[in-house]
Amino acid sequence: MRIENLGYHGIYLPDSNVILDGSGPDAPTFITHAHADHVPRDRRRPVFASPATAALMRARGHSGPIQELPFGERLSLPGPRRTAVTLYPAGHILGSAMVFVESEDGSLLYTGDCRTPPSPASEGFRLPDRPVDYLIIEATFALPIYKWEPHSLLFSQIREFVADALRDDAIPVLLCYNLGKAQVVMHALASSDPPVTVQIHGGGEKLCRVYEQFGVDLGRWEAYDRQTLAGKVLVTPASSLETPMIGNIRKKRIAYVSGWASLEARASQLLADTLIPLSDHLDFFELLDVCRTLRPRHTWLTHSPDPTVALHYLQKEGFSCSSLEEERNHD
Ligand SMILES: [Zn+2]
Repeated sequence: MRIENLGYHGIYLPDSNVILDGSGPDAPTFITHAHADHVPRDRRRPVFASPATAALMRARGHSGPIQELPFGERLSLPGPRRTAVTLYPAGHILGSAMVFVESEDGSLLYTGDCRTPPSPASEGFRLPDRPVDYLIIEATFALPIYKWEPHSLLFSQIREFVADALRDDAIPVLLCYNLGKAQVVMHALASSDPPVTVQIHGGGEKLCRVYEQFGVDLGRWEAYDRQTLAGKVLVTPASSLETPMIGNIRKKRIAYVSGWASLEARASQLLADTLIPLSDHLDFFELLDVCRTLRPRHTWLTHSPDPTVALHYLQKEGFSCSSLEEERNHD
């Protein structure tokens, strides 16, 4: 199976003439989810995506045609290699999909960003029921120091943080990405007792409407309005930390909701009162479990700041594996 790493999360399968995420040659392009680093830079490019990803991409300004491919529906592509593509839910954010490509060269599963157990604000996580010969799996948190707590526990932590702050007449501020993390946090707060109202950063408003359209309960929420914020919860990206939006709040408590991935995250932690380690990516142990379940002929790790430890563990268990960033082709 030949694989070309196009960089910036784009992958090209030259024999099947298929592109997974991103841009590149003129070929059928399948988008795993609507995060900016996975969608084509050319907003007019025709793509395939799950129905919710299509709606989120349109809300974020993709103007090209998006052919919706529901989960589990097998799409045959024209061409000599008899290629068929099926999307499976990836559990990362709403609409997130793993792309399963079957051809005469074997089958390949590309996870995109994924999460198992799945985010409760997604369509779940499901692996193909047919053999996976080749696996490309994200390894963003592929170190044994990353082991996530169950969603139920983290959700209680979020509700308690908010209730404590409101009891002290402080504004609870939850720092999260506009797409995905914000909506999981709102979903967790939807079952607060007594109920709370969330104000969301302007960039997240349209995205929240898409979540609701697809049946995710986000509880009581409205767009951010400084005049009416008192007694409510603010959900906003970490980038607003240095802006008046947060600076002008006299009494506040700040929680950083993150899987501790990047240096940027660490810097933001220093300014936060609480860290809630809610991640929408696989942890190290979940990654090993997916490989053990699928037992592919070869596995590529991708999106990893340091794949060596995970590769070592997989090799010790007899898996053939390598880093996608380092290896361009595999036959
Ligand atoms: Zn993502």
